[in-house]
Amino acid sequence: MRAVVFEKFHTFPSLTEVEKPVPGAGEVLLKVAGSGACHSDVAIYNEFDEGAPGAQNPPFVLGHEVSGWVEEVGPGVEGFAQGEAHLVYGPIGCGHCKACSRGQDTYCENAATMPYLATGIGRDGGMAEYVVVPARNLVPLGDADPVDAAPLSDAALTPYHAIKNSLPNLSGGGRFALVIGLGGLGQIAVQILTALTGATVIATDMKEDAMRRAEANGAITVAGGEGQVERIREITGGRGVDAAFDFVGATPTIKTAQASMAQMGRLTVVGIAGGVTEWSFFATPYESTITNTYWGTIEELHEVVAMYRKGQIRPDVERYSLDEALEAYRKLESGQLSGRAVVVP
Ligand code: NAD
Ligand code: ZN
Repeated sequence: MRAVVFEKFHTFPSLTEVEKPVPGAGEVLLKVAGSGACHSDVAIYNEFDEGAPGAQNPPFVLGHEVSGWVEEVGPGVEGFAQGEAHLVYGPIGCGHCKACSRGQDTYCENAATMPYLATGIGRDGGMAEYVVVPARNLVPLGDADPVDAAPLSDAALTPYHAIKNSLPNLSGGGRFALVIGLGGLGQIAVQILTALTGATVIATDMKEDAMRRAEANGAITVAGGEGQVERIREITGGRGVDAAFDFVGATPTIKTAQASMAQMGRLTVVGIAGGVTEWSFFATPYESTITNTYWGTIEELHEVVAMYRKGQIRPDVERYSLDEALEAYRKLESGQLSGRAVVVP
């Protein structure tokens, strides 16, 4: 079968022929319906050095945002019918530590001794005609469109987790949220904030079309550049925002978010652009928090699917064939995508 393979650090992936995988004990073979191209893939093949924290050794098939139809089950797997549509929960922990037992494989306490982090991150992923995943990582989609659902696995689950952790900051009237970076994750973050909170959502991106789409999703937009923080503060009546989500994570975006915070606000950095920040007592709004998050739990993915089925999450999908998958990655790298590229093999 054909697959997009990460072959070497700091090297663009290739579209190549690999063996069709066979499901082992406890695993399921899926015929891939859709596989989203995430900016983290670019970090995997372009930015990580061998041995760096988070780096996974090649070769493996990319694609950690995957949906598909059950094709075959491995030994010991029961309760799945051929042709059923499922979404893949990507993270794979040891399955028995405290974190894994609450469905949070992302924070597996035995991650250091696991051979891979996730489907498509260290282990073969879904940028291919078929993928094998552990049966316990499947979330049923019912009759919902599985292709448009693919981005839910990461582009929706990651902001959902970050937003859920910030809900105490956003509950009550007159609250403000800030979303920086309106690509795959950021657009869905605006939809989730609109659906789950009554907060006013302020959003920003360098791209005009991304800001127009965020407005259509319910946000007020503020352009970057000189005076941006002052404009954000003005919208909040001078108080600042109660929760901010940075889907870029570069030094200037973290700085903008920090400068926009209200007292007791919470800033979550989700983007992994390698930004660094300074902290000092009097420059920090009292009791404001800065934190990060990584992906989400399988229970939250069930909740995300429920929001998708209700029309509260509507991934903005650009479909690509497997032959065009590398073009999708080139566009993602150069910022030419609007919406999420989903490869439909
Ligand atoms: P994307 O390329 O689809 O979107 C990024 C958006 O940010 C684009 O619209 C771009 O124009 C905008 N942007 C870039 N620099 C900016 C700046 N200085 N100011 C304002 N806007 C700017 O990327 P994505 O797939 O949505 O991923 C977003 C980030 O989140 C990436 O860094 C990715 O690696 C990371 N990520 C983190 C997790 C996690 O668990 N923490 C999970 C998935 C993705
Ligand atoms: Zn574990």
